[in-house]
This record gives sequence, C-alpha cells and structure tokens, in this order.
Amino acid sequence: MGGKMHELTTNCVFRHGRRHKCAACFRQYNKMEHLVEHMRAARHSSHEPRCDVCGKHCRTFESLRDHLGVGGSTLPKATHCADAFASRSGCTLCLRVTPHHRSSSCKLDRAPAAMSRPAAMAMNSRQPQGRALALGCKMVGAGSDGSLDVVARVCVVDEQENVVFETLVKPLIPVTHYRYETTGIRPENLRDGAAVMTVKSAAARVQDLLLAGEQPWRARTTRGRARLLVGHGLDHDLDALGMDYPAYLKRDTATYPPLMKTSRLSNSLKFLTLTYLGYHIQTGHQHPYEDCVAAMRLYHRMRRQEHAKGGGDDADVPAASAEQAFPAWRQRELERMTPDELLRLSRPDYHCWCLDE
Ligand SMILES: [Zn+2]
Ligand SMILES: [Zn+2]
Ligand SMILES: [Zn+2]
Ligand SMILES: [Zn+2]
Repeated sequence: MGGKMHELTTNCVFRHGRRHKCAACFRQYNKMEHLVEHMRAARHSSHEPRCDVCGKHCRTFESLRDHLGVGGSTLPKATHCADAFASRSGCTLCLRVTPHHRSSSCKLDRAPAAMSRPAAMAMNSRQPQGRALALGCKMVGAGSDGSLDVVARVCVVDEQENVVFETLVKPLIPVTHYRYETTGIRPENLRDGAAVMTVKSAAARVQDLLLAGEQPWRARTTRGRARLLVGHGLDHDLDALGMDYPAYLKRDTATYPPLMKTSRLSNSLKFLTLTYLGYHIQTGHQHPYEDCVAAMRLYHRMRRQEHAKGGGDDADVPAASAEQAFPAWRQRELERMTPDELLRLSRPDYHCWCLDE
C-alpha cells in the first residue's frame, strides 16, 4: 500500500504547510513550534563547524566531512557542496575553502622522535612556554590478565613542543604485562634508579607545572596563573596519576564536541592526528611525547579557528540549559521569530577553544 499515500502526504506538505527551516542546520519543520523545540535541543552557535560552501552548521567535523564527501565518506552528502569543495580544492584537513589557503600549511610534520634520556632529563628544568601544557601517559598492564592500566611513563610538553617534564614511573602494584611492543618498556627500566620516580612525586611535579604557583583551592574557581591542561582522555591519565584538575581548565581532544565521532563516542588520537593534522602516530614503540605534541597541535588548530564572536555579553558562554535561551514562558514570542532571530538567541553547550585565543 503506502506508495500512493506517501505521495499524497508529501504533496500536502508542500501545498499547505509552510516549511520552517533552521537557520543553522537547514532542517525543515512544518510547524513553527517544532522549529522552536529543535532550537532548544540543538544548541547551535557560531562556534560549530560550518560548511564553507553553503554555510550549514554541523555538530562535529566528522559530519562536516560527510557533508563534503571528504575522506571516503559513505553517508549521503550534499552533492553541490562536495562538487564545489573538490573543484575549488578545499583543504581536506581543516575543511576550509578559502582562496589562498594551501592545505600544505595545515599538514604538519610528524612529531620529532622522542628525545634521548639525557636530553629529556636536561629539559626537566626548562621554563614552560605559553599558557597551556599537554600531558601524556603511557600505561603498562597489571592485574591477573594485565588489563589494568598502570602509569609507567609521563610526559609534559609546552606550547612550543618542548618537553618540560618527562619521567619513567615506578608502579605501586606488580606489573604483569609490560606491553613492550607498544611501550618499549622492559622490567629493568622501571627498577629503582635516578631515572625512575614514584607516581606520587611525578604527580606532584605535574601539579606544580600546571598550577604555576597558584593555590590549588583558588584554581578551582579562578584561573589566575594556572595553566590550561591539554591532552587526549585526560581523566584516564589524571586517574592513573592519582590527581585531579578543574574541568574548566581542561582541553581534552577526546571529549571536545567538534572532534568527537558522535555526541557520546570519542575518536582516537591516532585518527584525529591523521585526519586533521595529516600524519601517523602510535606506530611501534610509543612515547607519550608524540601524543602530547599531537594533542597540543589539535588544540592550536581548534583555538585558531576564526568564529564570529557573539554580540551580547554572554553570547559565547555555554548556557547551563537550553531553557535559559528559549524559556517556555516566551514560547508565543519565540514562535513569531524568524529562524535567524532564533539562531541569535541560541547558546552553545560547550566552551569553544577559539575563546582561549
Ligand atoms: Zn538546526
Ligand atoms: Zn569558536
Ligand atoms: Zn554545504
Ligand atoms: Zn587547511
């Protein structure tokens, strides 16, 4: 059955229903109240990844890549935009189509190979450059099947990609799997010696670098001198070090909405580095230095995005709830607004890194 029915309903929609189109993602609704409801949920803002051809907002760079048909995407894409992107040689890394942009400037070289130990030790006293530090840890396995992650190597890198701290860590519990193929760590490396620190003293050193003289209790609410912490899957690393850091100072490439696969699923750092920076990491023996550099470069790429900053005082500040921007008591008024006016009211639900610049 269905066929004829479907045709009729579709026709009806076009004949009688005014289509209300979201000014950001272009989704269409038959009823204005449905568009208002969509705006409540979508949390659109000028900070979302956007198609350079049609201006469509996407929640993630992943969906923008699909939209543009970049990177062997299999989802249906916007043919017009995909064609324009290809013919105007859009950059497959940052997804921009600007006349003088060369993708070679977006393709970064592979991170320099991890430095030899004496060089790294000398670096441990270096003064960090910039106001952000990237943290990376490599784990070895503990527990009966070796699946419990225990930190064995810690690295902290500044904004200039200098190592400001690097050490091997002596695990508190017996290591059952050194994961040598990826960590390059052997039992003798973690035995007592000048080059091996306890987890506690390594964590204290990381904490000192991050706080930069700020009182821990103060940094909870006021940034002061405290540095931003960049990394991938920071909570896992911080857990392994037995420390915490205020959420508002974390810049995590695993949980930053535009870099995620979906609203719940993270991309791997390996994928992000290849897709948005253009080089391979985590091959062979892995040093956390490489992860730190990749996360810092991704952070810089995101921070340098040129977004129109909202006009109002709080236009760029994430709203605690959608209700704040679109309160139910204004429903009537909201339903009389144009899609553009609604978009101007919308507030993001995350802190865009461009605001750190
Ligand atoms: Zn929308
Ligand atoms: Zn932004
Ligand atoms: Zn488009
Ligand atoms: Zn580019």
